[in-house]
Amino acid sequence: MGLIVQKFGGTSVGSVERIQNVAKRVIMEKESGHDVVVVVSAMGKTTDQLVSLANELSSKPSKREMDMLLTTGEQVTIALLSMALYEMGHEAISFTGWQAGMMTESVHGNARITNIQTERIQEQLEQGKIVVVAGFQGISENGEITTLGRGGSDTTAVALAAALKADKCDIYTDVTGVFTTDPRYVKTARKLDAISYDEMLELANLGAGVLHPRAVEFAKNYDVPLEVRSSMELERGTIVKEEADMEQNLVVRGIAFEDQVTRVSVCGLPNGLHTLSTIFTTLANNGINVDIIIQSTSNEEKTSISFSVKTVDLEDTIRVLEEHKSLLQFEQIESESNLAKVSIVGSGMISNPGVAAQMFQVLSENGILIKMVSTSEIKVSAVVDVEYMVKSVEVLHEVFELSKEEAAV
Ligand code: ASP
Ligand code: MG
Repeated sequence: MGLIVQKFGGTSVGSVERIQNVAKRVIMEKESGHDVVVVVSAMGKTTDQLVSLANELSSKPSKREMDMLLTTGEQVTIALLSMALYEMGHEAISFTGWQAGMMTESVHGNARITNIQTERIQEQLEQGKIVVVAGFQGISENGEITTLGRGGSDTTAVALAAALKADKCDIYTDVTGVFTTDPRYVKTARKLDAISYDEMLELANLGAGVLHPRAVEFAKNYDVPLEVRSSMELERGTIVKEEADMEQNLVVRGIAFEDQVTRVSVCGLPNGLHTLSTIFTTLANNGINVDIIIQSTSNEEKTSISFSVKTVDLEDTIRVLEEHKSLLQFEQIESESNLAKVSIVGSGMISNPGVAAQMFQVLSENGILIKMVSTSEIKVSAVVDVEYMVKSVEVLHEVFELSKEEAAV
């Protein structure tokens, strides 16, 4: 007998029937002899709807009141799920973030968890109850309600699993696991049996929405084994764990992609010691998130810097650069939108030279022009025209043999 933390996302609790279905999944674990802590998200699209309500009233709602508003979503689900469990003959108790002892920094909208005081949860578990905790929320030192950032319920679950030393953390969602790439775009995408924390972290940061990046970071730091699985089907999902216990280091394990990428080039900059730091400090101070950066020197005096941003940030980026033109001393700004970023991820890359070369070769053979590149130890990203995004993923999926079954051990 052990302790299991189960997390159910918004779609999985989107209606009364689905909440009843979740209650059955919870009871299955409880009846097999485990203690169970359940973390839930707000029902369906509730959080989005609350955000739109706020936006109707104010173009810049107070962050404190925003947290007050959004945390109501999860509070609805915990109460309903506890009632459903009672109806099915099981004792359950719901806790909001602060009741569950979820302490966070004093930041609204994107707070980090600082500590979890688990006594209250533990007391209830000892009495044999199922404990249902509101995801995505906590309380700051000065007693303010905070949220952990969109998608933060995954982090609540993993953090609780770490603090309670749970045997396992199951993340239930509307897909059956982590796939080699998005099966809605690529028919041959295959569900993975296992993936390492580092690979999952890269994929999550590159826009694979299945897990919140911070939750993966937490799981890695505290060595919490995760399973991503379906709340509807009973099949096994994908295990996320340390590379060392995995069967094989695949060169490429997954492909992530995102559109809405724009390249901005700042041309004719003075080729000085401080140029790079000045330009990126200016952008950072104005809240502009930059992704890939490329510097090209045309002659001794002048240099150009290109970087990618999300397309929604283009207008702000140009405004900030223009406002600081006298400081930055550039000649002109150029930009290109309608781009996409395609990334291959795999921990076997560390020991396999030539993976990037193979990626570039297959893209060029298919007539796909690469506009920017960035790499890490276990990832290569290429920026291409958005019209070639899916095609790029398809040819890479094929050449790196991602649809092939992993060898059974
Ligand atoms: N309900 C929150 C959101 O939609 C948190 C979560 O679901 O993880 O972002
Ligand atoms: Mg989510």
